[in-house]
Amino acid sequence: MDNCIFCKIAAGEIPSKKIYEDERVMAFYDIAPAAPVHVLIIPKEHVLESAREITDEHAALIAHIYQVIARLADELKLDGGYRVVTNAGPDAGQTVMHLHFHLLGGKLGPMA
Ligand code: AMP
Ligand code: ZN
Repeated sequence: MDNCIFCKIAAGEIPSKKIYEDERVMAFYDIAPAAPVHVLIIPKEHVLESAREITDEHAALIAHIYQVIARLADELKLDGGYRVVTNAGPDAGQTVMHLHFHLLGGKLGPMA
C-alpha cells in the first residue's frame, strides 16, 4: 500500500534492523524501544490495518505470527517471559495502520 511505512520496510525501501523474515512475515527492532527488547512483527502484505479486522480467514497467519514470536523470544533469551501487544485504533495510540505486534521483553512494568 502506498505511503505505508511498514509496507516500505517489508519491501526493503526503508532500512530496518531486521531479525527475522519468511515468506509471510518479517520482524525488526522498533526504532523507539519501549522496553529493553522491543521487536515488531508484521505480515509482509498489507492484509489488515489492525487486529480489529481479523476474521477466520486470517487464522493461519495470526497463528504463524505467534509461533514466530515464541521462536524469537527463545532466540532473544527472554527466558523470564515476554509481552505481546497490538494497538488497534486511536484510543490505543496506534500510529501505523498496518497490522503489527509488539514483542516486549526484559524487565517490564505493569500494563497501562
Ligand atoms: P503503534 O503505535 O502500535 O502503531 O506502533 C508503531 C511502532 O512503529 C512504534 O512503536 C514506532 O516506534 C515504530 N516505528 C515507526 N517507524 C519505524 C521504523 N522506521 N522502524 C522501526 N520502527 C518504527
Ligand atoms: Zn502496509
